[in-house]
Amino acid sequence: MKWPSFGYMRAAGLPDVWRALAEHGAAAQVVAGGQTLLATLAFRLSDPKLLVDITRVPELRGITLTGGMLRIGALTRHAELGRDALVARHAPLLAEAVPYIAHPAIRNRGTIGGSLAYADPAAELPACVVALDAVVVLVSAGGERRVPARDFFTGLLTTALEPGELIAAVEVPVATAATRSAIVEVARRSGDYAMAGLAACLSMDAAGNVVAPRLVCFGVGNGPVLAAHAVAALEGRALTAASIAAAQAALAQDLDPPADLHGPPEMKLHLCRVLTARALTRFLPAAEAAA
Ligand SMILES: Cc1cc2nc3c(=O)[nH]c(=O)nc-3n(C[C@H](O)[C@H](O)[C@H](O)COP(=O)(O)OP(=O)(O)OC[C@H]3O[C@@H](n4cnc5c(N)ncnc54)[C@H](O)[C@@H]3O)c2cc1C
Repeated sequence: MKWPSFGYMRAAGLPDVWRALAEHGAAAQVVAGGQTLLATLAFRLSDPKLLVDITRVPELRGITLTGGMLRIGALTRHAELGRDALVARHAPLLAEAVPYIAHPAIRNRGTIGGSLAYADPAAELPACVVALDAVVVLVSAGGERRVPARDFFTGLLTTALEPGELIAAVEVPVATAATRSAIVEVARRSGDYAMAGLAACLSMDAAGNVVAPRLVCFGVGNGPVLAAHAVAALEGRALTAASIAAAQAALAQDLDPPADLHGPPEMKLHLCRVLTARALTRFLPAAEAAA
């Protein structure tokens, strides 16, 4: 189908964005990489009268390290995340996620801000930012506010973004030598959205016990699902085959996956259990992983 007709303006900075949003209200919609929005226009799932192109807004750009946090501007493209040295060193989970997202052409244009704002329940980056305990920085004409990623995703394709707000950046606590992270997923074909996926992040203390684990499932609910019972099965315990099995079992209390085109709820739960073992086994000491 063809796009509906709409106006277009390219913002040179945030003041241009605020002016356009004030003048056109809900009839204006921002566009970043356009990799989701343009498809929804073609399917007539959205009908803005004005597209406000934010790709040249300098305030939404850049990757910087400040005070133990890695600040990643909303306009950072997926491909940039995958090759940035600061991301590789301080938030390796995000770099690991990139090859799972669609295909190179889409990764060259799609942005982290667009992915978080759209909040597809099967998308990788929303799950990663929850697993990393990141903070989403929102900006409006009235100023800035910070929302923990775990509170940002509020339902199916729904977020804490208020009208007139943009995602400016995401702030990720930097990984330490004790941090372990992994993302794993099952998709029908390489580049497809996940049938089920898991982003995991935890620390190991000097005694080898698990500290602050976060297991976040995606593709199995209305948004990223922080698996609280599975996490409780790991917290403060040595990571062993037994504790991994306990986390797998506890997932039944965390997940209530809807049936979808890929299969029934039981299959999705099974996939998440398999993925939990795949991710956590990577964090086992080498001898135990081989046993
Ligand atoms: C064929 C195909 C396959 C794909 N496969 C995957 C996949 O496997 N995994 C995956 O995660 N994604 C996938 N995607 C989506 C891709 O990652 C998109 O790039 C991403 O979801 C949206 O980013 P964008 O910058 O293109 O956003 P846009 O399409 O420009 O915008 C998306 C929405 O976010 C809003 N928005 C954009 N930026 C901001 C901001 N800074 N603040 C507030 N609102 C904003 C827009 O108004 C719009 O509502 C796929 C896309 C396609 C076309």
